[in-house]
Amino acid sequence: MNLKKSIAILGLLLVFISCATNPFTGKKTMAFVSNDQLFPSAFAQYNQVLSENKVVTGTKDAEMITRVGQRIAVAAERWLNANGHQGYLKDYKWEYKLIQSEQVNAWCMPGGKIAFYTGILPIAANETGVAAIMGHEVAHALANHGQRRMSAAYLQQGIALAGNVALTNDPQKQSIFNQSYGVVSSVGGMLPFSRYHETQADEIGLRLMALAGYNPSEASELWKRMKAKSGGQAPPEFLSTHPSNDTRIANLKKWAPAAKQEAAKFGVTEFRPIN
Ligand SMILES: [Zn+2]
Repeated sequence: MNLKKSIAILGLLLVFISCATNPFTGKKTMAFVSNDQLFPSAFAQYNQVLSENKVVTGTKDAEMITRVGQRIAVAAERWLNANGHQGYLKDYKWEYKLIQSEQVNAWCMPGGKIAFYTGILPIAANETGVAAIMGHEVAHALANHGQRRMSAAYLQQGIALAGNVALTNDPQKQSIFNQSYGVVSSVGGMLPFSRYHETQADEIGLRLMALAGYNPSEASELWKRMKAKSGGQAPPEFLSTHPSNDTRIANLKKWAPAAKQEAAKFGVTEFRPIN
């Protein structure tokens, strides 16, 4: 076993020691780097992505992305405060940008740095559709799914997990980061996480959109449009590491009433019109 690999495994062991329970999933999250280390790198990487793309500003669509993002962020905050996790998002620096690109993509980096690509807007179809996507992407970030994907990639490639996580001027680390957080899209759509993480993000995302005042019954409609867009290209679920569109649509329908009940606890009993 080479030194790099030994260091990587030692890093992973440390991870298991330093894992904390995630309030959104109720599961232990392995935080192989603290937010203090990760967030500055993520913020720098976000700025880099923005500098390399055309950011749309001042349009109705750009304003909609900001509006929905702010409401989802407030929903996450309210939910955490009500459940005894005040200050959990204190280091988040939420930002919501629309990027001019045909890619069907959207993502949320650690610390609340969000991007939507104009290519996903026809599938979102309306503000409630945007909220369904936003809820899902923010849920991945809140549940630390990207961190898990990144730590697995680091381990696989023999990069030390502990210590210096700075991404600047390290193309290999930048590339792993971008893939871990879905900045890179897959053929025809968003790069999915594992089946388990996708399902978890769907469930948390539904609650966030409902609490933000968007009808969670529309999330399954969004994924029907996503399915139509993929033109039946997706592999059958048993061959794939992520949920099939049909499973996802069925789950979202099944869970929508629970999301509405959760929102009602916060006084949200009516949802914004679909437009
Ligand atoms: Zn996802």
